[in-house]
Amino acid sequence: MTTETRAPWRYVLVTLGVTVVFTVWYLLYVTVGAGPAALAYLAMPLTAAVASVAALDLVRRAPLNRLARRFWRFMIVAFGFLTAGYTLLAVAAFQQSPVLPSMPVPAAALAGAGFLTAMWAMIRVPLGVSSSGERWRQWLDRSIAFLGCGTVLFHFGLAPLITSAGAWTAQAITLIGMSFALAVGAVTKVAYIRGGPIDRSALRLIGSTGLVAAATAVLMTTAGEPGTIPAQAMIMPLAPALGALAVRRQWISTGERSRRANTWLPYLAVAAVDVPLIAVIPGSLTWTDRLVIVASVIVTALVTVRQFVAFRENARLLREKRASEERLQHEVSHDGLTGLANRALYRERLAAQLASADATVLLIDLDDFKTVNDSLGHDVGDRLLIAVAEVLRAETGADGLPVRLGGDEFAVLVAAPAAEGRPVPGEAIAQRILDAFTGPVSEHQLLVHASIGIATGAAGSPLDRLQRDADVAMYAAKQRGKANWVRYHDGMQQPVSTHAQLGGELRRAIDAGEFAIFYQPIVALATGRVVGVEALVRWLHPTRGVVSPAEFIPAAEGTGLIVPLGRFVLREACRQAAAWLTEFGPEVLQKVAPNVSARQLHDPDFVQDVRAALAETGLPADRLVLELTESAVLRGPMVSRALHELHACGVRMALDDFGTGESSLSLLRSFPASIVKLDKSFVDGIELDEPGSAAADARQAVARAVQQLAGALGLATVAEGIENQEQADRLMLLGYSLGQGYHLARPMPAADMTRLLASQRDRAAA
Ligand code: C2E
Ligand code: CA
Ligand code: CA
Repeated sequence: MTTETRAPWRYVLVTLGVTVVFTVWYLLYVTVGAGPAALAYLAMPLTAAVASVAALDLVRRAPLNRLARRFWRFMIVAFGFLTAGYTLLAVAAFQQSPVLPSMPVPAAALAGAGFLTAMWAMIRVPLGVSSSGERWRQWLDRSIAFLGCGTVLFHFGLAPLITSAGAWTAQAITLIGMSFALAVGAVTKVAYIRGGPIDRSALRLIGSTGLVAAATAVLMTTAGEPGTIPAQAMIMPLAPALGALAVRRQWISTGERSRRANTWLPYLAVAAVDVPLIAVIPGSLTWTDRLVIVASVIVTALVTVRQFVAFRENARLLREKRASEERLQHEVSHDGLTGLANRALYRERLAAQLASADATVLLIDLDDFKTVNDSLGHDVGDRLLIAVAEVLRAETGADGLPVRLGGDEFAVLVAAPAAEGRPVPGEAIAQRILDAFTGPVSEHQLLVHASIGIATGAAGSPLDRLQRDADVAMYAAKQRGKANWVRYHDGMQQPVSTHAQLGGELRRAIDAGEFAIFYQPIVALATGRVVGVEALVRWLHPTRGVVSPAEFIPAAEGTGLIVPLGRFVLREACRQAAAWLTEFGPEVLQKVAPNVSARQLHDPDFVQDVRAALAETGLPADRLVLELTESAVLRGPMVSRALHELHACGVRMALDDFGTGESSLSLLRSFPASIVKLDKSFVDGIELDEPGSAAADARQAVARAVQQLAGALGLATVAEGIENQEQADRLMLLGYSLGQGYHLARPMPAADMTRLLASQRDRAAA
């Protein structure tokens, strides 16, 4: 440190030098009677002046912070006052020589101002205390220490001066009293300062200047007037010397902090106060003795209060410590966002359970989370995860431990079977969770779907195997389509390819043109006439044959490849429909309906893509119907704007899988749909007239309600998944005129569809 090398020794050397010189002089004075006694009075003003200059130099040249600078400015002034006061005293000494001088009032006033300034500077040094409890305790500690030490010094130092005959002027006694106060105050305060802006050792040195006064007082009481000369020449200049030393300490201070505050001082003070107490008790009491007794009583009372405060403070600290330990424990074992248990705690509990018993886990993966996160932002994504966690917590209840493994992956560790109780079946929890997700969650009213894999490991089996089984089951659940659970069983196929691998393969397949579109007729139920087609993509895999979209659409959505794939489907469907219109005339088809994913709607180019597809294939906009799911259109203002723009172009929209969400009604009002497609789940079993079957009743009720609602809003309806004539008949009774399903026609390649349309034209012509 450069400041360290520059910190000057000279002020220390000069002050100590002056002290030594005057000590030598005093020895000569006593032995050979050298010089006038008045010479002794020069030591103090000389050294005090040097100390003042030292402090001035420090303030000018050393890098100090604001508080330290203030403190040392006060010290310049304090030593300055002392210099002036003792200079006046020295002048009086030479004037009155050879008689020793009594202190002139202006001299005493200046010196007093010096002590007061130093005291004030000490008082203003901050303690660096944090809590109010600690402040209280310190205040008590310091009062105890101050009173205790002060009483001792008072009894042995000041009281004899005050009570002895009048050789001592009131000024001198006051000055000595003040330096006592400074000394004791400084010592008790410095003991409690934990470092900070002002160097601790420097403060100690300044504080101990007061001890010089104590030494002076002792010397004077024991030696009387003869003690004055050695005091002036040898002892008092030590105070400025200590000041100069303090300046140097501050100069080389490293600003070190956080030393432990003093804890033994108050106890020492209590012990100390007993000494004068014991000393005064046997004799007859003077008023100063009574003061000592009063001080002792006060100290004892303060100690009692202090113990109480310390006790309360300790109790509080203990509470805080326990709370922070618990918090820490919770933090390392729980997920910060959702508050669920984290992977670490999950593995720990799972391992513990597997060590002694069977363990069942549910692995839960959200199907559309990535889309939400990408399109609506992390904030909405986070809220969704929190809402999902809430659902897991509620549905799991006491039956297991819900966990967030990371990202959108969750798990439930099913509770170990109670002593003689039956194990909680994982399936029940899985079904409850899936049921809870049939309605929208989070304040954004989002629909989420979860795929759940369930696996059970035998006692003692490795944790990682169980985890892998659950993974395989979860993948199988995903393959079966959204919102499913699957339990792992031996021999269950390892996934052919993981999501990532499938993504890579899809990319290649798009480039290689392995995708084709199948068309499924949408039929007038009463006449069997084809009124439109739904376009369904197929992957003509070189080795696996025709792959269902249920297997690869989720991966395509997850990787974003759905955007180019969807663009291809849209373009190809428009091209094919335009070709049929040209070949068979405008009456052959009212609509072609490709499916559109949420992810596509978020593509900023989507509207432009649709416009271009129509323009380039020549398909009239009113022949195109986009099939969208509720969860896709419920994706915020950007999607809404795109849909309204398309509506304005004349493109129609159909709400797919209608009735599976809960927000359908409000959705129909805000979204420019023209068609609703009644979900297959309400068609399944609608023909069964089992009296009292709540399920059949409910399905019919939904089918009827959807039809009435659509009618009231002026929307067309299509019933999906019709697999027999009874269903078709029942749906017609309920008011449905259009339908789709294997019973009417299966999805077929374009060439088959062309033949079907041709035969229909021929029949019409006949
Ligand atoms: P979706 O839009 O609900 O399509 C109807 C699905 O039900 C089709 O399955 C169809 O083959 C099937 N289906 C039709 N009639 C019946 C029936 O009577 N019984 C039964 N059991 N099923 C019937 P597919 O073609 O496997 O498509 C599955 C899902 O994949 C579609 O459900 C759709 O959500 C999605 N998808 C298909 N093609 C595309 C596409 O080009 N883009 C996007 N984004 N998604 C597509
Ligand atoms: Ca569809
Ligand atoms: Ca559908």
